Amino acid sequence: MNANLFERLERSIADLPKTAITTPAGETVSYADLIALAGRLANVLAARGVKPGDRVAVQVEKSVPALVLYLATVRAGAVYLPLNTAYTLAELEYFIGDAEPALVVCDPSKREGIEPLAAKVGAAVETLDAKGQGSLLEAADDASEIFETVQSAGDDLAAILYTSGTTGRSKGAMLTHDNLVSNALTLKEVWRFTADDVLIHALPIYHTHGLFVASNVTLFSGASMIFLSKFDADEILGLMPRATALMGVPTFYVRLLQHPGLTREATSGMRLFVSGSAPLLAETHREWSARTGHAILERYGMTETNMNTSNPYDGDRVPGAVGLPLPGVSVRITNPETGEELARDEIGLIEVKGPNVFKGYWRMPEKTASEFRSDGFFITGDLGKIDERGYVHILGRGKDLVITGGFNVYPKEIEDEIDAIPGVFESAVIGLPHKDFGEGVTAVVVRSKEAGVDEKTILAALDGRLAKFKLPKRVVFVDELPRNTMGKVQKNVLREHFADLYTAKAS
Ligand code: ATP
Ligand code: MG
Repeated sequence: MNANLFERLERSIADLPKTAITTPAGETVSYADLIALAGRLANVLAARGVKPGDRVAVQVEKSVPALVLYLATVRAGAVYLPLNTAYTLAELEYFIGDAEPALVVCDPSKREGIEPLAAKVGAAVETLDAKGQGSLLEAADDASEIFETVQSAGDDLAAILYTSGTTGRSKGAMLTHDNLVSNALTLKEVWRFTADDVLIHALPIYHTHGLFVASNVTLFSGASMIFLSKFDADEILGLMPRATALMGVPTFYVRLLQHPGLTREATSGMRLFVSGSAPLLAETHREWSARTGHAILERYGMTETNMNTSNPYDGDRVPGAVGLPLPGVSVRITNPETGEELARDEIGLIEVKGPNVFKGYWRMPEKTASEFRSDGFFITGDLGKIDERGYVHILGRGKDLVITGGFNVYPKEIEDEIDAIPGVFESAVIGLPHKDFGEGVTAVVVRSKEAGVDEKTILAALDGRLAKFKLPKRVVFVDELPRNTMGKVQKNVLREHFADLYTAKAS
């Protein structure tokens, strides 16, 4: 049977007389419309010379036509390659050069800048804007005859998604039809999605969270989603009475908590709040429960693996933990030096294996080989542990591990202690070059609005709570932590900014 994601979607939602997507501007797209539009657009792609296996690089604003383009590309057997809308021309030059797409689709305003970059790799350029105007959809209006969905094998590529670039240059993760479909169906089951659900969708759709978690789960459930171009607390609170679920990054929840309109009553019709892409502070989790009566469901995934773990739908949603391995997914912790599997509660590298795990990094065979074990486990690069109850805890990125005087310090452990100190809003612990210790443990702290704390009070509060080698050598204060578009703290920016904190002092 054809394993093409589009075909499987079409089979699972066949003839559903239902709305798939609405927007605050009043657009309503039914499943029948979505399928028909994607069919027409797939024909346009084929007419433009896009063949199965070709990459279609897309940098357009979030919109219904943009989502249709994703489905159309997959339907045509081509590889969907979305690009962050914030990327500059210089960044696009890298991605287009690396991906060598057959076609680049961009906003009409970007066409002029992108054309020379596309020409270098022989790619055609078409345009599409948020209103559905542009050369691509004009052509779709003329395409009347609809061809069949291209036959794909389960392990053919459906998409290449570049990682967020939090720890270095973004890598292209090759995702197959099976990766995406298995992930969507698993999450549908675990989060109990049905055709009655209405998701508030305020995430970008160039990232795994908004595309392969939020959109795919909704579509494969025959549910509907309200597409918002960006996060807006007022708008989201206004939509809650007619929605059932929200998926967001932790900053969504922090900002909603700052809104006086967030009450038990305002959220009473909602059944599910999911958080991911970055750590959700235990404090945010608790405050949310107290204010709304709903426990946020935190889950853990990455571009390369879709979703790995989720807190349970029924049962304990543990603040600070990312939950249990999803059905069919194996998670283990290994010793960073020896690769040996570690026991419960021991800290090491998080490795995963399952139908969710990608096929490898695009055009990086050596990197791919070095990140997979011979038994098929993928080394995520995250540090963590599995507790006695089987819950996975993330303790930071491997690259953020601080080695001070020969000791390993896991930033999250220190951050959790600091975040619990009254007057602290949030913190990031980093290692900075230090002449005596190699790296000096350093706390970068954002104060909360109500009360002020200083370096002395923080160090005094930590004294006795943490082993001496884990104590920050210095505490510095900033107004806010630098974050990328997915709300991830950019520790490399902090490390650069404070690079000579100790060395300058010594000289
Ligand atoms: P790059 O790989 O280019 O450095 P990135 O890892 O940030 O960027 P993504 O694939 O978008 O790119 O993010 C995946 C990472 O996000 C995970 O490896 C993990 O570190 C982090 N993450 C995701 N969900 C959670 C969570 N619930 N708690 C803590 N961290 C999370
Ligand atoms: Mg990563």
